[in-house]
Amino acid sequence: MDNDNYKEQLNFDMYASLGISPEVYRYGQKVEASLAGRFDDIDKTAEYNQLKVLKAMQDCRVSEACLLGTTGYGYNDIGRDTLEEVYARVFHTEDALVRPQITCGTHALALALISNLRPGDELLSPVGKPYDTLEEVIGIRPSAGSLKEYGISYRQVDLLPDGGFDYEGIRNNITERTRLVTIQRSKGYQTRPTLSVDRIGELIKFIKDIKPDVICMVDNCYGEFVEEREPSDVGADMVVGSLIKNPGGGLAPVGGYIAGRRDCVENAAYRLTSPGLGKEVGASLGTLKDFYQGFFLAPTVTAGALKGAIFAAGIYEGLGFDVVPGKDESRHDIIQAVTFNNADGVIAFCRGIQKAAPVDSHVTPEPWDMPGYDSKVIMAAGAFVSGSSIELSADGPIKPPYSVYFQGGLTWQHARFGILKSLQSLVDAKAADMDIAGV
Ligand SMILES: *Cc1c(COP(=O)(O)O)cnc(C)c1O
Repeated sequence: MDNDNYKEQLNFDMYASLGISPEVYRYGQKVEASLAGRFDDIDKTAEYNQLKVLKAMQDCRVSEACLLGTTGYGYNDIGRDTLEEVYARVFHTEDALVRPQITCGTHALALALISNLRPGDELLSPVGKPYDTLEEVIGIRPSAGSLKEYGISYRQVDLLPDGGFDYEGIRNNITERTRLVTIQRSKGYQTRPTLSVDRIGELIKFIKDIKPDVICMVDNCYGEFVEEREPSDVGADMVVGSLIKNPGGGLAPVGGYIAGRRDCVENAAYRLTSPGLGKEVGASLGTLKDFYQGFFLAPTVTAGALKGAIFAAGIYEGLGFDVVPGKDESRHDIIQAVTFNNADGVIAFCRGIQKAAPVDSHVTPEPWDMPGYDSKVIMAAGAFVSGSSIELSADGPIKPPYSVYFQGGLTWQHARFGILKSLQSLVDAKAADMDIAGV
């Protein structure tokens, strides 16, 4: 046996020992072979972003002492302050706030909004409805402590049916009260396309031509390191995200970031800690090594997740399912939607992903009534960091059109296995009509 065949046989046997049938294995080989060009492109992006992060760390003279962290008030926390400088260099912004005290992505976004808006101001979303959890932050759904309660109003301009910006509508909804514009990069759990950095740049330019002093904030969740440029390279005043997604590289155990204009970041710091204290306090505790190392790994971890998403698109598109984005479409985030048109498909998919997890693989996920959702939802997650969605994960609401949203995988190899496991689960449960051998 030559070396290639030998390795192929070893892999085949290993997949078999993890429950993958020969038919599913071979189909996976075929789909992967069709993706070589796209994978090369992703590797090039990862290479560029890896060096961008490395250069920032070297330019900021990150030293061993930076990895240690502080307790108590956290005065003179050089590790924390240097990390914030590293983020600012990578995003090409004046300043950044990167803290374990920012509890999640929603918190980072809420903080950026409420600290930069004042009573009487108006917030505009020119890209349609924002992420679910922001509805309560803004007060679209009544909630204690919402922007609405503080006298901050909200307007929304939906995307056109073809996904384009409604420039006319946006112009008509920028008023003298408009103080901040929020732009969500990722489609999140909607079916609209994710915005490329180029398109975000066009939108920001249009808005600033009408009103130069408006603050443009981008919800950057799931978008970091997918392209060579970030929204802050095309005019965004603030980019905001979660450390248990792309920029945490799978290692950050908690946290969020806001990178942007100095005054905007300062406002956020005064709100996060206290007026007068701002960035000067906030002990980093034991998080710094993971924050640095995770950020260092983030470009390649994101690349693995992207490959997994494209592989999932290839696998399911090839079997006749609707996938968003399509296998050959350009990508601007790491989320992959697959539509099954029946509940059994959604459930079997998520159970397969769970069976592929390094943690809790023996657990069977069930649909449940999750707070804030209007239908049952099933979730698959067996992550090292609870709820981390840069790790292999999937979820789907049990309602038409019965779509699942898949994302993450700390390595391409794991994402690949997870997708094959989801397909095997569909085959074993006879949850969908498929002719794997025939494609
Ligand atoms: C995940 C996400 C959020 C919220 O982040 P949490 O950490 O879940 O609070 C906001 N916007 C988008 C687009 C997201 O993907």
